[in-house]
Parts: sequence; structure tokens; C-alpha cells
Amino acid sequence: MGSAAESQGIQMVRPASIVDGVHDSIYERIMSLEIAPGARIPVDVVARDLGVSQTPVREALSRLEREGLVRKAHLIGYSAAPQLSRKAFEDLFAFRLLLEPECARIATQNLTPDSLQELEEAAADMGHGEAPVDRNSRYSRFARADAHFHDAILKIAGNEVIRQAFADQHVHLHLFRLMFHSRVTQEALEEHENLLAAFRAGDGARAQAAMHEHISRSRDRLMLAFE
Ligand SMILES: [Zn+2]
Repeated sequence: MGSAAESQGIQMVRPASIVDGVHDSIYERIMSLEIAPGARIPVDVVARDLGVSQTPVREALSRLEREGLVRKAHLIGYSAAPQLSRKAFEDLFAFRLLLEPECARIATQNLTPDSLQELEEAAADMGHGEAPVDRNSRYSRFARADAHFHDAILKIAGNEVIRQAFADQHVHLHLFRLMFHSRVTQEALEEHENLLAAFRAGDGARAQAAMHEHISRSRDRLMLAFE
């Protein structure tokens, strides 16, 4: 651990979880656009900034690569994944609108008191939680919580092929990078609440409609990023 990094005000990582710490540090910087989409991420620079050796940095970067946030190119090395194009964005939302409302309907049929409770907690996580240290961690925490909420609904719907297809798109990682500079999330919380009300009422058609509305409105909010 070098005092050079400390004197630059960079947060040091704990030895016991060096890879996790490096991962989270790069993750936050990508999600907050501090590392711009497409920008190179030189292993030696990251290692020096964080006061660690290159090995945990490589491990963290290959984990981020599996998560879709980082790309590795021969001879060039690692870079942040490019921002979604407008076409990719529209394709992604068409995909979500096909899958998620129907899964919300099916999930309503499968709900148990326990699984409903899990959804309630996932939704509450987004609205509350401890006070965020800064804007970066607030956004990325919202991204993780929203991803968890949407995945929990797919899990309850019970089709693992659909759930995996959704997971493979890394929807939330891409969308929250896109929305970093746009308005946050109060509206999304209200839309989740509408969805939960439908689940509580056991009304599948209403859950389907509420999910459709939530995704359509998310698309409209995020579309501003392209204007
Ligand atoms: Zn949502």
C-alpha cells in the first residue's frame, strides 16, 4: 500500500478483498462516466492509482468484462464498453416490452407470501437505504437495486430461459450509464409501487399493464439522452 495514493486522496482497498475493492472502484467510475464509454483502462495506471499490484486489477477487469461493462481487445487491452447506440437502445426496450409484462402477469399467478415479501423488500431498497456517500454510489446502487427487483419478478415467473436471456443483456448496467446525467428515479419508484399494488391484489392483467407502463415510461425518460 503506497502513501502516494493516499496523499492523492484515493480510497485504499483492503487486502482481504482486494479484487472486490478494485472491481467496485472501477465499476463506480464506469457507471458514473468518470471513465468515459470506450475509454482505455490501462492496467498499470489503475494499479498505481489504487496502490495494488496488477494481478487483482486484471482479475477485476475480467469480471467486469463478463458483466458487459468492459471489453478486451488484442494488443490494445481493456476499455470501457461503448455507450448504447440509439438502435441498440430501441432494440433493448422492444425486447423488454416483449418479455417483462408477460412475466409480471405469470409472476402474479406464482406469487407466495414469501416471494411477495421479497419483491416488497427489493422495491424498498431502491427508495431507502443508508445515505449515499456521493452521487456516483447513489446511481450505481439504484442500478443494482432496480436490476434485482426486475430479476426477482422474472425468477418468480419461473422461466429460466427468459431470465437468462434478460441477464445476458446487462440491461441495467447500460441504461444507468445512459441516464447518469438525466433526472433520477422518483417516477420509477412510483411505477414500481403501482406494480406492487397489482401483485398484492393478485391481479395479473393489472401487473402486466403496470410493467408495460413502467418500461414504456423508462424508455421515454432515457430517450432524452439521445437528444
Ligand atoms: Zn424498474
